[in-house]
Amino acid sequence: MKQPRRRPLDLSAYEERTRRGPCFVCAFLDGHPGYEHELIYEDADHVAFLDRWPTLPGKVLVAPREHVEHVVSGFSEDGYIRMMGVVRRIALAVESVFATERIYLLSLGAKEGNSHVHWHVAALPPGVPYEQQQFHSLMSENGVLDVPPADAGRIAAELRAALA
Ligand SMILES: [Zn+2]
Repeated sequence: MKQPRRRPLDLSAYEERTRRGPCFVCAFLDGHPGYEHELIYEDADHVAFLDRWPTLPGKVLVAPREHVEHVVSGFSEDGYIRMMGVVRRIALAVESVFATERIYLLSLGAKEGNSHVHWHVAALPPGVPYEQQQFHSLMSENGVLDVPPADAGRIAAELRAALA
């Protein structure tokens, strides 16, 4: 698969959707039109799906099904450990599919938008110049990858196969 190029993201439209629209994870789980994602993993309590606006190839989001807003205190100890177990499985699958110099894990979100806990799992490919690694590589302000739907479908299938 050819490495997709970055394109600018309409940041004001994205912010509007994030702050005024429904919770993107709950909307996805409810089948809300416009909130479809490529599912790569699910169990009784968690889902993992491709980021619609990936900044790195094969970037996956892992979320609890329940609308929890606090990434640590929102979970019981057991629930937190199980969530991180899913994050680990997804990260290993991403590393097995994509050439990875470094796997990045982070959870952000805000009360005003993207409040539903989700972990970003992103693989930095080898060869990215140092100044374009870490936060630079993750910020949609620096553009998002232009991934055609058919390619996203192939990536999701490869990740599902790696998890099987
Ligand atoms: Zn939610």
